[in-house]
Amino acid sequence: MKENRTWRKIEFNDILSHRKKDRIIGLAFPAQNKGFGLKSTLEPAVLSVLPSGNNVEFSLDNIDFNDNDVKYYVCSVYISGFDEFKIWAEKHNRKKIIVGGYHPTTFPEEFIRYAEKIVQGPCDNFYDTIAQEGQIVNGILSFKNLPRYDLYDIKLNQQVIPDKKKEDRCGSVWTSQGCPMRCDFCCSPMMAPSLISKPISALKKEIAQIKKLSPKWLFIRDENFPLQKDWKNRLDLISETKAKIYLFASANLLNKEVLRFMKEKGVYMICLGLEDITVPYEKNKKLDEVVDLIKINKIYTYLSFIVDPLKIVGREAGEEFYQKLMHRFHELKPEMVCGNFLMPFRGTKIWDKYYQYVGPDDYKHYDSKTAFLIKNPIAREKMQFFMFWYQWQYYTSDFYNKNVRKFAVNDTLYQRFCELYDEYTPRYEKLWDVRP
Ligand code: SF4
Repeated sequence: MKENRTWRKIEFNDILSHRKKDRIIGLAFPAQNKGFGLKSTLEPAVLSVLPSGNNVEFSLDNIDFNDNDVKYYVCSVYISGFDEFKIWAEKHNRKKIIVGGYHPTTFPEEFIRYAEKIVQGPCDNFYDTIAQEGQIVNGILSFKNLPRYDLYDIKLNQQVIPDKKKEDRCGSVWTSQGCPMRCDFCCSPMMAPSLISKPISALKKEIAQIKKLSPKWLFIRDENFPLQKDWKNRLDLISETKAKIYLFASANLLNKEVLRFMKEKGVYMICLGLEDITVPYEKNKKLDEVVDLIKINKIYTYLSFIVDPLKIVGREAGEEFYQKLMHRFHELKPEMVCGNFLMPFRGTKIWDKYYQYVGPDDYKHYDSKTAFLIKNPIAREKMQFFMFWYQWQYYTSDFYNKNVRKFAVNDTLYQRFCELYDEYTPRYEKLWDVRP
């Protein structure tokens, strides 16, 4: 018994002395959703920035740390996490805070009083990046370091997709960043104005690492995967994981031969941007033809669509928009649809038109599910309900269940929509009582 206590004491002291050594702590704002619920979540991108060494940690909780133990806080900040970040940063030593990610890249001036270094754009070389002069610096990519998967449990990843069960493991990889298509709303060029490809040798090492995690599903995070000239080599490598692969692509890059190859290499679902159906997009000129080819190859189609809340103000405008949208669903028969409210990003073509509707109070709503461009809370809530409701109508329709696939199969897609149904319907019933 005594021996045991001594042993525990040694172990505890070890932990303390280890923790006292200049810790480097990675954090993500907003905090990672670790509730293991059914919201989509993937391992945070900051894992690629954290340097090697055993004094490095990733913390799921954006709690208060003891500055004395810590050398650097490496913080990835997305727009919706900015308020959370400010509250946290005010309690910590500014000299130790390094920020990067989407919000510091586009609004560096907002971080000047909170961080020692503000890193813009992609970065995987922590020390060389922060060694640069000045408070605002460009991220340096060396492709020498592998993401620190040892600091994170990929069981926490959750993706809402057809056929994936809640307990299935899901991994992700990025092989390129950026997209030259320049769709007027898209923030992708803000992080990477031109296409950056990860060298094949680095991808090879990363795939070997991912294989050890045995994911059943693998998401290729590239904004537009087939843009790279050597995407086939990349897919060949990724297929070694034997995972079911899903990826983003624009319709203009897909054809019969491309799709046949993707199918052979284990691509299970392709995410295409239907975007705002009232706007013509160059990339979507051949969308119908391409979706037919996707189906011929027995690959699932995932269509994401955008709702501009300012275009659907009033019952008539709303009904007209959603009728058109449902009509497109019936024409294209996607296995998965996903609605997003328009989020204007600084630096995009639409920014000048919308920035008068966006203030710092809206940052926390940059989750694509909040119609924050609408300031009347009742109208906003109704719009959120209807975006959910039309998707629910599609999934539960005879049309979907007879012509597309069965919806109620207890996968994460079905479970998440049941969660949303339980959340939205009582809220909507209440709203109806306070009709303005
Ligand atoms: S094709 Fe996709 S990633 Fe490229 S600019 Fe358009 S929306 Fe963005």
